[in-house]
Amino acid sequence: MTPAARPGPKPTANAQPMAKAQPKPKPKPKARPKADPEALARAWAVRLDAKRPGLLTFVLDRLAEANGRPVWQPRLDPVSQLILTILTANSADINAEVAFGALRETYPSAPRPPDASLEPQTWPGWGGVGLPDLPPPDWAVVEAAPIPELTDVIRPGGLANQKAPRVQAALRALVANGGNHSLQFLASKPPLEARDWLSAIPGIGKKTASVVLLFSFGTPLMPVDRHVFRVSQRVGLLPEKSDPDAAHDYYLAMLRPEQMYEAHVSLITHGRRTCHARNPDCEHCPVAPRCRYFDPNAG
Ligand code: SF4
Repeated sequence: MTPAARPGPKPTANAQPMAKAQPKPKPKPKARPKADPEALARAWAVRLDAKRPGLLTFVLDRLAEANGRPVWQPRLDPVSQLILTILTANSADINAEVAFGALRETYPSAPRPPDASLEPQTWPGWGGVGLPDLPPPDWAVVEAAPIPELTDVIRPGGLANQKAPRVQAALRALVANGGNHSLQFLASKPPLEARDWLSAIPGIGKKTASVVLLFSFGTPLMPVDRHVFRVSQRVGLLPEKSDPDAAHDYYLAMLRPEQMYEAHVSLITHGRRTCHARNPDCEHCPVAPRCRYFDPNAG
């Protein structure tokens, strides 16, 4: 016979529970290396072309038939373009133009040429009525102007209290970053190098830098604003999960350099006239046969 197992001592109130073996902490998953945005963009361009061949050409051709094919022409110098872009932020383009005109009047860089055209120039892709073809303001004087004075000058553009310091900060940064108040040196830099140079300035993103370089020099860059982005997403030219910042690089992979100005202006115009944020006019849209918003199965 085996002796009966004796019961052990009863646990007392003060007895410490046996320490449980702690589970080993799971090793943290290794952070995935960030995907190279340019490689992602190139892969998307290849995929889009395979799945929906000729889509971008179709869109550009249809829009050209409807609104004309935009051709780049020289317009404002780069610093004027930059300051005008700052003035348009959250303001109507037409008001920004009035504010820019006031800068020219108050801080002239040169006497008005006697034969200067006073007819406003109307530029495709630009939402205002255009500006007379006149020399830029004296940017050094604008930069040194007392803030209350500059605020009053640009008040017609709206949000003057915020924009006056931004204008001066941008002008100061151009010089502090090794540039100047003409920026002509950017014309000879490779496009992405020029974009990086400009977008290193606080408050200037890819879109503003691309606008300045494309419009002033014809540098092959594709600015993506809210209109371009909305139309592109609806048609299916961009991946569903892309964001406007990444869209700049997607377009660089999808377009030939000589198509960038046309694509920018045509998509902006289409977004303003037809593909409105609310109630897009799909019934009258030349792109509808291949638009995924209009027909989710469009090829
Ligand atoms: S079909 Fe409609 S949603 Fe698509 S691009 Fe045209 S207006 Fe925009």
